[in-house]
Amino acid sequence: MVINMKIDILTLFPEMCENYLSASIIGRARKAGFLDINCHNIRDYTTDKHRRVDDKAYGGGTGMVMQSQPVYDCTVSVAGNENPRLIFMSPQGKVLNQSLVKELAKEERLIILCGHYEGVDRRVLDQLSFEEISIGDYVVTGGELPALILTDAVARFQDGVLPNEDAFTEESHYNGLLEYPQYTRPEVWRGEKVPEVLISGHHANIEKWKKEQSLKVTEEKRPDLLTDNK
Ligand code: SAM
Repeated sequence: MVINMKIDILTLFPEMCENYLSASIIGRARKAGFLDINCHNIRDYTTDKHRRVDDKAYGGGTGMVMQSQPVYDCTVSVAGNENPRLIFMSPQGKVLNQSLVKELAKEERLIILCGHYEGVDRRVLDQLSFEEISIGDYVVTGGELPALILTDAVARFQDGVLPNEDAFTEESHYNGLLEYPQYTRPEVWRGEKVPEVLISGHHANIEKWKKEQSLKVTEEKRPDLLTDNK
């Protein structure tokens, strides 16, 4: 069995991440040995006798800031002798999209740091050269959900995680378009029938329909994707 990728998530709430990562597709891929994902508790690295990991912000302001020392020691210890790509989930970072996901999916190893409260002391982020990645122009309470989103999106590209390549190459955004509409049984539901072509068994016509629908859906829902990809 070949492990495709190793991801380490550094967080104050490892159980939040572990719960998600143990279920469904990602959970199965981890159990089968296709993904090596580990969650590390930053608090385990604090040298403070009361196990503190945060303190008030210099200059005032609401909320606490995660201190440099535990984040630094945790990162260095988890990285070991390797030189993994270091990512800090941050609303100030480059916004995650499919092309960045594809790029990250080629890495052998990622370390993802989750901020919490007001964020993380700037000095440790700069000294370890963390690259900042955002999930969008809004703020959530912690980096755990953003880290899980990035991990999930990247994991889907690894061998053995999805049943075959079609499972992601045919999906929205892979080729700059949105996916065609999907239908399942029953054939008629509340008086509405699935498109005839899908039950015709004519593969060439089905493929043609999928391409046309994909273009139509993109034109209707996200015309910007068509102009951006020209
Ligand atoms: N004070 C920070 C600011 O204004 O830039 C926001 C801190 S936020 C409440 C706490 C943590 O949640 C951040 O350090 C980051 O790790 C994570 N976070 C919040 N919004 C995010 C986003 N859009 N993308 C990625 N991470 C985010």
